[in-house]
Amino acid sequence: MAKAKIAVNGYGTIGKRVADAVRAQDDMEIIGISKTKPNYEAAVAHQLGYDIYAPAANLGAFEKAGIPAAGSIEEMVEKVDLVADCTPGGVGEANKALYEKAGVKAIWQGGEEHELTGFSFNAVSNYEGALGLDFVRVVSCNTTGLCRVIYPIDKAFGVNKVRATLVRRATDPNDIKKGPINAIVPDPIKLPSHHGPDVKTVIPHINITSAAMKIPTTLMHVHTVNMELKNECTAEDVRKVLGSQSRIRFVGQGISSTAEIIEVARDIKRPRNDMWENCVWTDSVTMHEGELYFFQAIHQESIVVPENVDAIRAMMELESDGAKSIQKTNKAIGL
Ligand code: NAD
Repeated sequence: MAKAKIAVNGYGTIGKRVADAVRAQDDMEIIGISKTKPNYEAAVAHQLGYDIYAPAANLGAFEKAGIPAAGSIEEMVEKVDLVADCTPGGVGEANKALYEKAGVKAIWQGGEEHELTGFSFNAVSNYEGALGLDFVRVVSCNTTGLCRVIYPIDKAFGVNKVRATLVRRATDPNDIKKGPINAIVPDPIKLPSHHGPDVKTVIPHINITSAAMKIPTTLMHVHTVNMELKNECTAEDVRKVLGSQSRIRFVGQGISSTAEIIEVARDIKRPRNDMWENCVWTDSVTMHEGELYFFQAIHQESIVVPENVDAIRAMMELESDGAKSIQKTNKAIGL
């Protein structure tokens, strides 16, 4: 079968990882990536062998900088079956008309609203619902992290209510513009935060509320998750369910922080120190008066990357079984 032809529009934190993950699969290929400016990331993308496309008005700047551009973003879109739009939140929306005009499928990221596509994706929760769709949104890092634990626990024990508190990294490691530098910022101050409602775009029947704050770190987010369960179970039962999920990793053995989790990612030689799995602290999994509690850490730069690959596979109908796609994606990227 011919490989699905994919473009990545917006080659930043998420886009560069999605491009590499697609490249690792045997049923899809990257036709091109887009960069707006001929900067160091464009130069590296060229070194990595990606064909670079740019806004038509900026093609001259690429030529001047000595970074070859293969054509305009419009030309890139015409050559593919599906575009993974990884432009900054709120920017991607404006590209919908371009994709519709070219008759190509498109995936957006969590920075866009659910309404843009009408389908919000998380592989373990609703893969089959994305089969053959033209437009899909892969939910944000935090929502992905929540869906990955809520869905299997709800299936096993039933969930009455979820309360999640999110301690969020201020920005990504390469970002020199954002803070906070020396503050803890309730974000947003009005409750609940959008994260709980966003989970409901994927798993609508879940009763969930959330609060979030930003702190001066760039490595990962940490969630405190509390769930009221319908059926009786022990902490060990919950560990078994979470342990059956390939995208959940238990952490312990002296790991007491996000810094040490990233060190593990370095030690196991993950590309860019990526930790694609939710990292659940084994010892934090606790049942108290019928309620479940645990801590998990979420690597914001990479957790949605395997989800993008699965979304492509579902939309292109390359695999009808979500579990098989998850397995295939994991194997190809080394998870
Ligand atoms: P980013 O700023 O790192 O990368 C975006 C890239 O798009 C940049 O290279 C930028 O130059 C380029 N770009 C900007 N405007 C463009 C345009 N009009 N056409 C083509 N390219 C354009 O952003 P990111 O962190 O990768 O976020 C991308 C999306 O993924 C957002 O929706 C975001 O909410 C979501 N997301 C981000 C994270 C994260 O933690 N970084 C996690 C999950 C989801």
